[in-house]
Amino acid sequence: MKVEILGCSGGMGAGQYTTCYRLNDHTLLDAGTGLGKLNHDEQLKIKHIFLTHSHMDHICFLPLLIDNLFDHLQEPIQVYALPEVIEILRQHIFNWEIWPDFSTLPNEETPVVKFNPITLHQPVVINELTFTAFPVEHIVPTCGYKVTTEQGKSLAFTGDTTFGLDVLQEINQLGKLDVLMMECAFPNRLDNLAKLAKHLTPSLLNKLIHALEHPPKQVWLSHLKPSQTEEIKAELAQLNLQTKLHLLESGELLEV
Ligand SMILES: [Zn+2]
Ligand SMILES: [Zn+2]
Repeated sequence: MKVEILGCSGGMGAGQYTTCYRLNDHTLLDAGTGLGKLNHDEQLKIKHIFLTHSHMDHICFLPLLIDNLFDHLQEPIQVYALPEVIEILRQHIFNWEIWPDFSTLPNEETPVVKFNPITLHQPVVINELTFTAFPVEHIVPTCGYKVTTEQGKSLAFTGDTTFGLDVLQEINQLGKLDVLMMECAFPNRLDNLAKLAKHLTPSLLNKLIHALEHPPKQVWLSHLKPSQTEEIKAELAQLNLQTKLHLLESGELLEV
């Protein structure tokens, strides 16, 4: 599976784009500002988008993508998310005030976007990839996705989450993973804020990785807050882990 890191930052700045990963050219995990890097032809190839949650940094370019492609789509873009997340998007974004309800345009029979509610732990097969949602712990309804290939390779993306026993159990239940993609939004000194906003720090991440029953071959990290990136990196460098940590960079093309 080809994994292109379009955006992996916890904020904005020169060269910084928020969460959006492109898998095998046709599917996205989240639709943050990284999505804005795709040209028109690349945008047209996107048929499926899996959303982890409704926070702005993960969905902000979805409305613009749909609007961009309005005239060019033969079939609807399929968006998958928890039912609660779809409800939030309908109520607060696609509500005719912030943005039109594109799920009824140009008409209800052949809309340009279709919202598909997903059920936790129930696999969804998209071409050669299988997506299975699992719950994580964030301040709004949020899920992560395990993505497996036909060759048996697996990647799990937790989205935004803090450390908790439920999350740990969920990740343990995913079995052996080639790659675990996690966030590390804040430095250790902002531990209180991280717990309040339900994010991770290097120390919480360390606790979580040490408690995993099947340590993944690699852990890919994202969502570092731009103003604290150097501090977080220095703290991550101090960790003593068996698993290889890789800090994602926007523009990277990786293989799982
Ligand atoms: Zn969030
Ligand atoms: Zn976020």
